[in-house]
Amino acid sequence: MIWNLGSINVDNFYYLPHLVAPGETLAATDYKQGLGGKGANMSVACARAGARVSHIGAVGPEGKWAVDRLLEYGVDTPHITLTETPTGHANICIDRAGENSIVLFSGANGVLTEQMIGGALTQASAKDVLLMQNETNGQPYAARTARTLGLQVVYAAAPFSAEAVLEVIDHIDLLVLNEVEAAQLRDATGKELSDLVIENIVVTLGSMGCELIARNSAAATRLPAYKVNAVDTTGAGDTFTGYLVAGLDRGMAMLDALDLALRAAALMVTRRGTADVVPELREVRNHNF
Ligand code: ATP
Repeated sequence: MIWNLGSINVDNFYYLPHLVAPGETLAATDYKQGLGGKGANMSVACARAGARVSHIGAVGPEGKWAVDRLLEYGVDTPHITLTETPTGHANICIDRAGENSIVLFSGANGVLTEQMIGGALTQASAKDVLLMQNETNGQPYAARTARTLGLQVVYAAAPFSAEAVLEVIDHIDLLVLNEVEAAQLRDATGKELSDLVIENIVVTLGSMGCELIARNSAAATRLPAYKVNAVDTTGAGDTFTGYLVAGLDRGMAMLDALDLALRAAALMVTRRGTADVVPELREVRNHNF
């Protein structure tokens, strides 16, 4: 089973004739609401990959909509706490040319307590996996607690902060980051990734696939991406990580789990959208690339 300590956002999309200028009031021509946040996206990807996943997070008084969406996607929600702080949200303005400006409010994602996290993890077993990103608070406590309980700990280092990585580095088994984040971590530590004391590091490389840096292996292993006609890369990273963790949770070997993740992420970039269009395990397994 996967325990995902992660953000839950409501994404508000406002379609506008042009982006709002200072002092201007502008009527939107259309409006859409969607489930967002890296945490929620990864929980959905884990569930679509066939894993049992329990989301550890928080929403505000108006957050029932987001929790209901997670439930619909097959995510366990008893460890999502209802708080007085408003639900995290992103207000995304999109003009006719597709240019956007985004206001992010982390809200309830930042008010998790050790009691909420620890309370959830008391129900975990040593065969389970803890997954975390950097859009909530509480990762160092969660990682330490999970390690003590014998869980595998996976950290997807986004949005990137070297400080946040260094806070959990001694308590994680797998670090997942993209190429830009990998370069930032090298700069911040002055070390090659292979010199960091982590069992496995996976660097995603967009259309080039990914790279595995395993502690017990002399050289990194490159795995190419499956070739597809990409139309929208939004959510590719979250789909990749969700499938990778689901594969590991199922007991797959690292290289097999990475192959599954590459297949799922390749299918994902052929579709427009986020949580709604994450492919299901059956499609991922059966697709002929
Ligand atoms: P995002 O923030 O856009 O979700 P990211 O920056 O976290 O993504 P990327 O390295 O861009 O992560 O992509 C994640 C994975 O998605 C890659 O490792 C690859 O497997 C897959 N992927 C991305 N782009 C393509 C593509 N054009 N063709 C095939 N697979 C792709």
